Amino acid sequence: MNLQNITQQYLKFFPGDFSGNTRQRQTPKVLFSSVKPVGFNNPELILFNGKLSEEIGLGTFEENDLNFLVANDLPENIVSYATAYAGHQFGNWAGQLGDGRAIFAGEIANREGKTTEIQWKGAGATPYSRSADGRAVLRSSVREYMMSEAMFHLGIPTTRALSLALTGENVIRDMMYDGNPKAEKGAVVIRTAESFLRFGHFELISSQKETELLKKLTDFTVENYFPEIKSGGIQKYRDFFTTVCKKTAELMSEWFRVGFVHGVMNTDNMSILGLTIDYGPFSMLDEYDLNFTSNTTDLPGRRYAFGKQPQVSQWNLWQLANALFPLIDDTKFLEQTLDEYSSYFWEQHDGMMAAKFGFDKVMEGDDVFFTDWQKLMVALKLDYTLFFTELERLEQDTARESFFDKVSYMARTPELIQELENFIKKYNERKNLNSISPEASKALMKKTNPCFLLRNYLLYEAIEELNLGKKDLMGKLLHALQNPYQEIYPEFSVKRPSTYEGVSGCSMLSCSS
Ligand code: AMP
Ligand code: MG
Repeated sequence: MNLQNITQQYLKFFPGDFSGNTRQRQTPKVLFSSVKPVGFNNPELILFNGKLSEEIGLGTFEENDLNFLVANDLPENIVSYATAYAGHQFGNWAGQLGDGRAIFAGEIANREGKTTEIQWKGAGATPYSRSADGRAVLRSSVREYMMSEAMFHLGIPTTRALSLALTGENVIRDMMYDGNPKAEKGAVVIRTAESFLRFGHFELISSQKETELLKKLTDFTVENYFPEIKSGGIQKYRDFFTTVCKKTAELMSEWFRVGFVHGVMNTDNMSILGLTIDYGPFSMLDEYDLNFTSNTTDLPGRRYAFGKQPQVSQWNLWQLANALFPLIDDTKFLEQTLDEYSSYFWEQHDGMMAAKFGFDKVMEGDDVFFTDWQKLMVALKLDYTLFFTELERLEQDTARESFFDKVSYMARTPELIQELENFIKKYNERKNLNSISPEASKALMKKTNPCFLLRNYLLYEAIEELNLGKKDLMGKLLHALQNPYQEIYPEFSVKRPSTYEGVSGCSMLSCSS
């Protein structure tokens, strides 16, 4: 790998703490602290994303690169660092947080000059680790690697995963927070993104009343990551906020399209570029349920439930608006932009839902149709993903019974079949109003509705296997997730097996990492 080409523009641009001290502490007025990873002597490679490595300019992997994957013996050009950010967690201001478990190597440029940031997750403590150890376990690392790649191949903006390696060390975790800590295998994931900047970076600097630094950070962000913004002066900051709102709304619509539940949408986990970031207690929806939360820590409030994600994003954008206020100084503008976020989200959402049903556009009356559909999904306890893939395959005379059995988590009754029948009748009537051909409608459904979904129970099974030293299921899942709009393994296109109902790690998870 071309490690000598890794650079660190942050270090040149922003004030930082170069003491190298990893003692956990407040670091006011700086955006980062230099920090050395602990280093692990017995690494073992599990996964390497060769294609991504080539794409971002890191080149091919050779045997002695394994050290880099766990941040061992770094070359001299890499002065690694952790960034400081703040955030609102579960609705409350949490003050300084920062990269507690992530350490940056810097960024790499590819042939076209596009830069990508690289960071290790789980390579040791930083000043921002608070009371934690800066380590990550195999379980959560596999989840991050696989799900971020799954989202990428679904076509959803996300951070990506370059590698996964065991550290050779054990890490102690109390997975269920029930006083039963266990030793688990430690691992390091290298993840990449155009930028890992979060709402929380802006909140931190703004809360310290460092307006000049806030301006510098925002100018840097716009210049590097928002080439579409050409304006100057205050207008630039307005356009920046409007664009972040739009990108966030688009991301929320995309999460709705595939049924992704993030689980911890604190402002420190919100990417300023509108990427899906920080894969923790996430889950894909099995049965359609707007109230489903994947995070045990989110009970009983369900602040981060599937259906609440767009609203919570808007709340998070309010916090970003507050942080950017010193640059924009226009309450009316910010309020209006936040209102427009809602209408823009619904516009995106309705267009997306129409495409899922194979409709070429949203028509009057579709809101009623969508509401009827939601009622059907809940009443019949239908699987979100399978519903659409089966609907696309449904011919006029297909038995409704087999559709029901494949898609519903309930036992079949004649009344329930009748409800399904009534809905399909309405659906066919609506589809007849399309101005595209039935073939074009089918093609639209095929590219909007994934056949393969990386469900939590599949990840759970792959991790169980991996703990026994087997990689077969993980390999199959990686193949499937790279082609989510094709049915490669029919055995994965099924409902969550009933044996997994309520099993920890299969539908709900804790934050423990
Ligand atoms: P999260 O909600 O998982 O995004 O984490 C919230 C904060 O806790 C972030 O600042 C993380 O860096 C920090 N954190 C979480 N887990 C660890 C860990 N194992 N070691 C150090 N810091 C952690
Ligand atoms: Mg986080």
